[in-house]
Amino acid sequence: MFSNRRRDPAPLNADLHCHSTVSDGTLEPIELAQRAHAKGVQLWALTDHDELGGLERAAAAAAELGLPFIPGVEISVTWRHETLHIVGLRIDPTNDVLRAGLQQTRSGRTIRARAMAAQLAEAGIPDAFEGALNYVGNPDLIGRTHFARYIVEINRCDDVKEVFTKFLVAGKPGYVPMQWATLEEAVGWIHAAGGVAVIAHPGRYKLRDAELRELFVEFKAMGGEAIEVVTGSHSNDQFRRFASYAKEFGFLASRGSDFHGPEESRFDLGTLPHLPDSVVPVWHNW
Ligand code: AMP
Ligand code: MN
Ligand code: MN
Ligand code: MN
Repeated sequence: MFSNRRRDPAPLNADLHCHSTVSDGTLEPIELAQRAHAKGVQLWALTDHDELGGLERAAAAAAELGLPFIPGVEISVTWRHETLHIVGLRIDPTNDVLRAGLQQTRSGRTIRARAMAAQLAEAGIPDAFEGALNYVGNPDLIGRTHFARYIVEINRCDDVKEVFTKFLVAGKPGYVPMQWATLEEAVGWIHAAGGVAVIAHPGRYKLRDAELRELFVEFKAMGGEAIEVVTGSHSNDQFRRFASYAKEFGFLASRGSDFHGPEESRFDLGTLPHLPDSVVPVWHNW
């Protein structure tokens, strides 16, 4: 279906996944727009976790810079035993169905954060709730990254990456499982808002190949359009592997750094490798 495409002579520098202080990024939406522009991004999306609050500022800043902007979101989903992230691109941020769904998704985060802090206190890290709050730009959206930054601040770990091996993950102190939105809900909200649904960083989930294929089949049946192929969370091998899944399952391919901040992210905005020639970019008809 997607074969015989000729190489795009000048592939677009699209970066369709990143985070601001409205979720767990360290830069304001306006700073991100400026950085994306400075790094040569030609098509940019802001995709905060379960939140749309940064989109207006991002859009205004991007417009001022002449940077084409796509409103986005990254929705937390529970599928079987795994937390998945579903990115919505080209969504209408004023859509009530999407707004209500995200509001519901955000609502358990504070209670969860209190429970995380209680576990961390038992593991010898007191006052983690207050410590994490110092890193929160949006009180509705306290998450694991904010705790991770606090644990680095008090020198219990060297960096955020290390925190996610010793704390905050299944089997370690500070892990509180969540029941997020269902896959069907997330895809439904994105579609209700006129957007395109994308499985974020599919290589990051602890799913066996057979389960991953079941996920792709289910997502496709729900009308899911795309998967991230080139993301900051994938290795070079995974760029190839997920390009081949995209072809096999008839998904469009997305590209996004998942940039969270200059100190924390493997790839800066706009610096990822381009999509392999074999896939169709999610933005091909925008
Ligand atoms: P939450 O939505 O509160 O469960 O937090 C999820 C966020 O934690 C992700 O979006 C990442 O920013 C961060 N995160 C999860 N796992 C890792 C990891 N292994 N290394 C660095 N950051 C991680
Ligand atoms: Mn994050
Ligand atoms: Mn994610
Ligand atoms: Mn992300």
